[in-house]
Amino acid sequence: MALLPEPIPVHVLSPFSQAFSKMRMKAYAETHLGASGLRFKENLIKAFIEYVRSQDEICCGRPEPSPEGIVVAWWKKQKHRHIAGLPQGRLYPKLKRRSHESAYLAEVTCHYITDKDADLNLIQKKALQRWEKVKNELMDSMAIKDASLIADGHGIIQSVISIFNDLFLLGALRRVKFDWIREAEGVPDMALGYGSDSSIQLHPTSLNSDPEVSLAVSRLSTLLHEMIHAFLAQFTCSSCKKLWHGRDWQVLAKRIEEVAPGLLGFRAALGRFDGLIYDLKHGIEKLPSMHDVLHYNFEQVLPTDELYGEGAPSKLVEDIPTKLVKSRRLSW
Ligand SMILES: [Zn+2]
Ligand SMILES: [Zn+2]
Ligand SMILES: [Zn+2]
Repeated sequence: MALLPEPIPVHVLSPFSQAFSKMRMKAYAETHLGASGLRFKENLIKAFIEYVRSQDEICCGRPEPSPEGIVVAWWKKQKHRHIAGLPQGRLYPKLKRRSHESAYLAEVTCHYITDKDADLNLIQKKALQRWEKVKNELMDSMAIKDASLIADGHGIIQSVISIFNDLFLLGALRRVKFDWIREAEGVPDMALGYGSDSSIQLHPTSLNSDPEVSLAVSRLSTLLHEMIHAFLAQFTCSSCKKLWHGRDWQVLAKRIEEVAPGLLGFRAALGRFDGLIYDLKHGIEKLPSMHDVLHYNFEQVLPTDELYGEGAPSKLVEDIPTKLVKSRRLSW
């Protein structure tokens, strides 16, 4: 018995893909001719939220608990390890490989991530100093068209990984191999990047399709995207981990997007919406609940006039009270 849903072959249009092309058409019709691509994206996100809302009213998608209780296979009967406190000084938390429940790990890590001076710990402050030192030169060198030509690109990316690791991922991410994606002759690779427990790859020339995003910002955003994959792959329990762009990945990516302008000085867009849509089209993820979608706040990376560069949450969707989100997450 397969434990994971079989991904739907791409040549068969999944039910979600069919629904999504209708959303695209709706968004297209609602976007004024000559408006920027960002307006289209905004309307597309709105159409998606409307769709989730309509589905949410029909079915909440929670499985019925069986009267006998859930039968757990023996290989899944293991205790999740907990983390004793957040790192405050030089000591990193001792995360054990593939041992932590992923919603819990994501929640603890979200608490670690902050852009408030008073809340930054020593590890984060030092990482920030390193970032300030290299930032300008780094952004310049990352702005070339073919990133595989950057002198000592591997070394530079590794040092950025180390900074981002300390700032956002508890300083816990273990070393990963870095490389640029190498396409075989005549076989283009559409991915912007890959992230696994042992390696991260970035495409040297393909970039984020969002307009108004610079080459350097697109690359650093993709690096952050893949680092979250690597982090979750390294430390979440292998029996119950969810790969791809599900809730745990989403909340971490969202939190990093929120603090990036204040800490890093650029508006990171981690491709959260596109990642989720990809998963849904390929039958990898289930449709999120309406509460999850509101919490994800996909619009936060779209620069509306008053929000540009502020990284403030968008006012386009009502935000649900943080308390509600928290208790829901804890009950998982
Ligand atoms: Zn329900
Ligand atoms: Zn587990
Ligand atoms: Zn991804």
